[in-house]
Amino acid sequence: MFKYEVRNQLIAIDELDTSIFSEMIDKMTLKNNKIILFHHGKKYKYFCTNCKTWHDCHHVKLKTKLKCENCNKTFEVICKRNVIRTCADFITYLQTDKENNMIIRSFFFKKKFNKEKMDFDINCFEIGRYNYDVDVGIVRYSYTSHYVVYFENEQYLEKWKKPSDSYEGVIEYINVYKKDINKIIRKRSDLKYSQLKKAIKYFDIVDYMNLYKRYNELELLFKFNCTNYIKSIAKSHIYNENFLLLLETNKKYIRYIVKYNLSAKEFEKMFELEIFDVEKVRMAAKYNVCKKDFVDSKININKLIMYLHQQKQQCNMYNDYLGLCNYLGVDMKKTKNMFPNNLKQAHDELSISKSNIDNKKYEKGFIENYMKNIKYMYCDKKYIVYPVENPHELIIESINNKNCVKSYIPKVDRGDCEIFLMREINKIDKSLVTIEIIDNELNQVKAFDNGKINQSEKKFIIHWCKKKNLEYRECADVKYD
Ligand SMILES: [Zn+2]
Repeated sequence: MFKYEVRNQLIAIDELDTSIFSEMIDKMTLKNNKIILFHHGKKYKYFCTNCKTWHDCHHVKLKTKLKCENCNKTFEVICKRNVIRTCADFITYLQTDKENNMIIRSFFFKKKFNKEKMDFDINCFEIGRYNYDVDVGIVRYSYTSHYVVYFENEQYLEKWKKPSDSYEGVIEYINVYKKDINKIIRKRSDLKYSQLKKAIKYFDIVDYMNLYKRYNELELLFKFNCTNYIKSIAKSHIYNENFLLLLETNKKYIRYIVKYNLSAKEFEKMFELEIFDVEKVRMAAKYNVCKKDFVDSKININKLIMYLHQQKQQCNMYNDYLGLCNYLGVDMKKTKNMFPNNLKQAHDELSISKSNIDNKKYEKGFIENYMKNIKYMYCDKKYIVYPVENPHELIIESINNKNCVKSYIPKVDRGDCEIFLMREINKIDKSLVTIEIIDNELNQVKAFDNGKINQSEKKFIIHWCKKKNLEYRECADVKYD
């Protein structure tokens, strides 16, 4: 059969009455319901959006949880001005055609609270039909972005068409309508042992069926309730590509997965590190201990795992620390250097020392630029802004303001850009805003963690630019509160 014929068959399928999904949508969105508190003078009452009933009550604190007297479900208490989040998600409906091919139909719904009606408006549309066995599909959508399908109004929906390349992966085959699933599995001998009904709880159904075609062992994982292993395969592309193979090559250890409900990562660590104490295995997985990093060193893996657990730090920080010790010639015979009391602090201190050594060569360029830019220093009653004087200042600014400005050191040295630090005069040592200027024009303005600046900071920057003849440009997000 030609692809266009399959498409025509898909188009010819009768529309489905989407009201069959009502109960399912309610279940999927149950957690998003609210208790809305109203008051008139000293009298209070609340409205439960789940069961849509009113109740008299005493004053209840907002943002706390309250159990609805009618439906017995617990929801967050909000006031009538608060906005209730609109919910949107996919629903997958399965059916078979005359040839017993699996037809997967995708629906998308939006559930929005309507304050006037005090009820939810639910919009549910079919957006895709896919013949799984011949791998041909059709789509119907108006606009897609970030894996979310938008449609506000039925009239905007386009007709069925062939999916474009950019549509690939937009639809998620999740939230399967379970009612007819047994019937479908019975019709398909290839799915008889697939554990499909259990699998759809964890997997996108198309992903799972593709995976099951390659690895029948999946059936065993479900049979023995290895939920953690199943979850890791479902969640991680790397695990579903490699770990079923690993499962095959390490068959003798499979009993541990069953016995301890190990995740794929824990399973990997068990035979990589040859540790069979399950508590340690779980810690090794949590802190990402890799044997290959320590092949040459005499570090006792068991001791290291306990150390990382006590420090609550990832193994790559420890590796980094060892590298810094080596670079700076730290005496590793001393236990306090091998396993410092505070790994993070020891790591950061050495990291600054190394940067300072590395950045010695930039100091001259920095001073030259500083002398050139000092004329742009400016302050008012609250803020001050000044050029950086040495590379060390940028390293500290990077750490304190959580940004990557230290990577600008070579650029500043060459005079390709100028970095200015804006601080509050009363807290001159505390990083506030990091500013980059290129060719007398504002290029980047970043608050903590590359975040937004506030109104008063913006005002100061505008003043500064005006006074010092710098080109002001709208390049920072501003916080409006
Ligand atoms: Zn209720």
